[in-house]
Amino acid sequence: MRLKRKDIQMIFQDPLASLNPRMTVGDIIAEPLRTYYPEMKKPKVQNEVRAIMKKVGLLSNQINRYPHEFSGGQCQRIGIARALILKPKIIICDEPVSALDVSIQAQVINLLQDVQEEMGLALIFIAHDLSVIKHIADRVLVMYLGNAAELGLNKAVYGNPTHPYTKALMSAVPLPDPIAERNKVIQLLEGDLPSPINPPSGCVFRTRCPLADEECAQIKPVLEGTINHRVACLKNKVEVA
Ligand code: SF4
Repeated sequence: MRLKRKDIQMIFQDPLASLNPRMTVGDIIAEPLRTYYPEMKKPKVQNEVRAIMKKVGLLSNQINRYPHEFSGGQCQRIGIARALILKPKIIICDEPVSALDVSIQAQVINLLQDVQEEMGLALIFIAHDLSVIKHIADRVLVMYLGNAAELGLNKAVYGNPTHPYTKALMSAVPLPDPIAERNKVIQLLEGDLPSPINPPSGCVFRTRCPLADEECAQIKPVLEGTINHRVACLKNKVEVA
């Protein structure tokens, strides 16, 4: 697993809390290199760190500073540099922009897209903000209580949301057109999220679903549909040509 882990890195939600306050930025970014390549000489490590700092938009003369000397957006760039330094194949981004201001969110998302393209990375991007997901994701997986509700290409899920939960989520996304926003009908969900330790029988969404009936309490739906769009619902299905 240790060798595999090198290919799978993480970017965390809270940029400042995810960085060790007692380590300099240079040491934080270099730590994965020292772990996996202990034989690498110090000048080479420094060069690698400076190069990756430049790639993520940090100045290499900031290498000896501490995390508290940086803004939230810069701290997230440090986290991204640390995740990139091992040239991984996959990065799991756990709500990487939710703690940032909107303008900084855009900068960080654009940076992630640039490095993804340049380094051929796969990003698993976890977020609650559907506008962010729409902007960045090629494929979208909507989850409810740890279960897959809908999976498909970005265009398929956003163009034709089919699961009742996805529909409710989509109806809550703010629209940039003030008239459309005023006339929009938001589908409010009743009740609270059930405990994941004791989930409902059958479909886990049934306690809040407006379409639920007896069958939904008996049968647990699985993802069905086409390779481009699949939905886990007994009533709303994707049309298969
Ligand atoms: S299976 Fe039933 S409860 Fe679950 S989402 Fe579909 S209609 Fe709603």
